[in-house]
Amino acid sequence: MKGILTGPTTLTHSSLIEKFYNNRENAIYDVARALLVEARKLEEVGACAIQIDEPFISTGAEDINVSRDAVELISEELDIPVILHVCGDLENVMADLLDFHVDILDFEFSGMPQNINTLKKHWKSGCDKNIGIGCVNTKLKEVDNEDDVRQTVIDVKNIIKKDNIIIDPDCGMRMLEDEISQGKLDLLKDIKMEGI
Ligand SMILES: [Zn+2]
Repeated sequence: MKGILTGPTTLTHSSLIEKFYNNRENAIYDVARALLVEARKLEEVGACAIQIDEPFISTGAEDINVSRDAVELISEELDIPVILHVCGDLENVMADLLDFHVDILDFEFSGMPQNINTLKKHWKSGCDKNIGIGCVNTKLKEVDNEDDVRQTVIDVKNIIKKDNIIIDPDCGMRMLEDEISQGKLDLLKDIKMEGI
């Protein structure tokens, strides 16, 4: 089981900070240090990986270098793989994200198809990062069209090597009915079994 943490940039930008900190940057680093304690505990009790969710990184709300330092403050201290999930349009942050010291980057491609071109623009052939490619649309309240999902996988496979691809949903599925979520996961399983 993987341990999931909301990342320091997203947590801090979702909080009302009044007097203690004179700037948000210091708060982000403190939150990262606190999250590292949680991540270490999750590692201790057997989590196979830690996923850091940072949807706010794509909004440009924070200096990307601050977000990177905060994520790496956690990722560089752990022995298990670290996944960084960033959803949204990645046009302005993809080049930087590909340099973050994490094991897996997890992006949204189905509901945000422009991210495929953005990846193509910035991906370097020597890059050995694993990429989680969101290929079912978690905002869509029905099971996705199978051909569309397969096409998203093929489009990404034309850019990066098959061995570096992990197929998964765009984002979380808590807003969806159980049956729909299960249908989306079954679809991913079928496509994986085909060997894509
Ligand atoms: Zn997300």
